[in-house]
Amino acid sequence: MDMPDIRVILVRPQHPGNIGACARAMKNMGLRHLVLVAPQRFPDDEATARAAGADDILTHAQIVADVRAAVAECVYVVATSARERSIAWPRLGPREAASVLCEQAAGGPVGLLFGAERTGLTNEEVDFAQALVQIPVDPAFPSLNLAAAVQILCYEIRCAYTGAAVPPSAHVPAPGEAINRFLAHLEQTLIAIGFLDERHPRKLMRRLTRLFRRANPDVNEVLILRGILSAIDKPQPPRRDDSDPPNT
Ligand code: SAH
Repeated sequence: MDMPDIRVILVRPQHPGNIGACARAMKNMGLRHLVLVAPQRFPDDEATARAAGADDILTHAQIVADVRAAVAECVYVVATSARERSIAWPRLGPREAASVLCEQAAGGPVGLLFGAERTGLTNEEVDFAQALVQIPVDPAFPSLNLAAAVQILCYEIRCAYTGAAVPPSAHVPAPGEAINRFLAHLEQTLIAIGFLDERHPRKLMRRLTRLFRRANPDVNEVLILRGILSAIDKPQPPRRDDSDPPNT
């Protein structure tokens, strides 16, 4: 069975052994596309040893410099986190996340982000995702080993995909990079019109990022939003005010 294009993205993984164990966990569940964001040590014999036969996944792993590049083609992204965050991203349980990922994969590649062993994902990295998934664990000891977290989510994805046929969605979301460019444009326009103060940005752009990721617009909707921004950016031509009462 051909599994959907769900990309497992490991962000700054520190231990090559974990990279290998993640590849193994993926291959067991039928997932193939591994993306490594700035791995500390890779390729590495320890990674190959721990992959235990899943070394083809390592050979074909895509290596990129940052999360933005990792998710540029993705139409939907879920981030994982062991800890609570001060900003409330939309939350999914692992089962729910797996079924949403399978559903969204009908529209293009989707991504599942995992953080580094010691530090996890930064808030800026989570900003690239539409939702956050936390595997329920004992709150007194919430942090799973990276490959164990990958295993649980890949298993849920397999169950979601093989268990219930997921009807293809009619909605084709825009790729992440189109949203990134829209958000950059939005920020510039908000600065230009004096709504966003660069010296005191607070959390405005993060909140707007979350709003638009959650809305998950399609390509046409992004074009409309960009068109609105361009219209705001353009100096307004002097306009005759038709609402004035006619001169009598
Ligand atoms: N000390 C880090 C933990 C990193 S564990 C922190 O506080 O964020 C490495 C990665 O494994 C995490 O970034 C996440 O991707 C995944 N992970 C670990 N425990 C998890 C959990 N309970 N739920 C979801 N992902 C988890």
